[in-house]
Amino acid sequence: MPVPTSMPQDLESLTAALKAADARLQSILQTVPDAMIIIDEQGRVESLSATAERLFGYAKSEVVGRNVDMLMASPHHEQHDAYLKRYLATRERRIIGIGRVVTGRRKDGSTFPMHLTVGELQSADRHYFTGFIRDLTDQQLTESRLRELQSEVTHMSRFMALGEMASTLAHEINQPLTAIANYLKGSRRLLERMAGEEAGVLREAIGKAADQALRAGAIIRHLREFVARGESERRVESLPKLIEDASTVALIGAKENAVRVSFRLDPALDLVLADRIQIQQVLVNLIRNAIEIMSEGGQRRELDIATTSVGDDMVEVSVADTGTGITPEVMARLFQPFVTTKHKGMGLGLSICRTIVEAHGGKIWVDSRQDGGTIFRFTLRAVKGEEKSLVE
Ligand code: ADP
Repeated sequence: MPVPTSMPQDLESLTAALKAADARLQSILQTVPDAMIIIDEQGRVESLSATAERLFGYAKSEVVGRNVDMLMASPHHEQHDAYLKRYLATRERRIIGIGRVVTGRRKDGSTFPMHLTVGELQSADRHYFTGFIRDLTDQQLTESRLRELQSEVTHMSRFMALGEMASTLAHEINQPLTAIANYLKGSRRLLERMAGEEAGVLREAIGKAADQALRAGAIIRHLREFVARGESERRVESLPKLIEDASTVALIGAKENAVRVSFRLDPALDLVLADRIQIQQVLVNLIRNAIEIMSEGGQRRELDIATTSVGDDMVEVSVADTGTGITPEVMARLFQPFVTTKHKGMGLGLSICRTIVEAHGGKIWVDSRQDGGTIFRFTLRAVKGEEKSLVE
């Protein structure tokens, strides 16, 4: 029987084509920036990308041919075979084309959050699955850092609000208390001139009342001193970093309000002397006020955060919005406590900002913008060259 002469040639070209396809796949896997793993229907690793090798800390040769469950943490580690079987039997998609967050396991046993998307590939009667993996460690770090920042700022804002209220209250109460003490002193003097047993009893009672008024005054003085002292911890901080952190916290949800934010930070400005959380508090207050006012309406919603240097040793930070601006009546009392135009406002934000900025040796003020909107500015002490070298 004549042997078809074309067969070996076909086989040859088929083999060559297969080799070429495999080479192409390998080159893709070498260069693709994603972590990619290809497995067969038994869950055995066929191939993986160089990024996946790096991500899991394994060399290719240590993984290829082995069950992919070695790269997973519980419960997927134990259940992966069952997942595959169930899928092949039912074709019910639980992860293919959907993607979800699972926990990966590195060679050293450490685990990390990853987003896994699975694609399916069928050739002849065999199935392959391609997993695309995104390491979420950084993202989760950012999220937890954000939560931490937020709770620091919220805690500080409550503490400062309490302080500001106590201070205002102390100031307001001190005056009537002083008046009470003075009246009592006068009455006592009058009673000293009167004779009789009852006058004596009254004198004593009035003396005790005066002592109590003085005591109340002392308590309030202590309270004010405590608030004034605060718990400020000034350190050399990076201003751009402070601004970045504070705006991240303050801008949560700003996108939904369609606010466009721009930063114009002077690259020459870096270090300032500041209590990190307190200055973030100032920025968060100013940015939130700006977003709130712009969310009330209006076409333009632009928030501009900028830094410039003022003189030799100060920096100025500005937060500008395109809101409806501030009426002259409110403007005159803006930084006083309990001045608010909001339904649920306490009117403490700006007075806290002023307390903080002034305690830092800076100033805070506000201007109306010509094209509408408001611009708040505050200054901080810059850390100069020679001081910088001290902290490096
Ligand atoms: P609160 O936000 O509780 O009202 P604040 O002290 O932060 O307290 O603000 C006081 C008032 O100042 C606000 O109620 C608002 O009327 C006004 N205000 C603050 N920031 C702005 C701004 N960017 N644009 C217009 N008005 C503002």
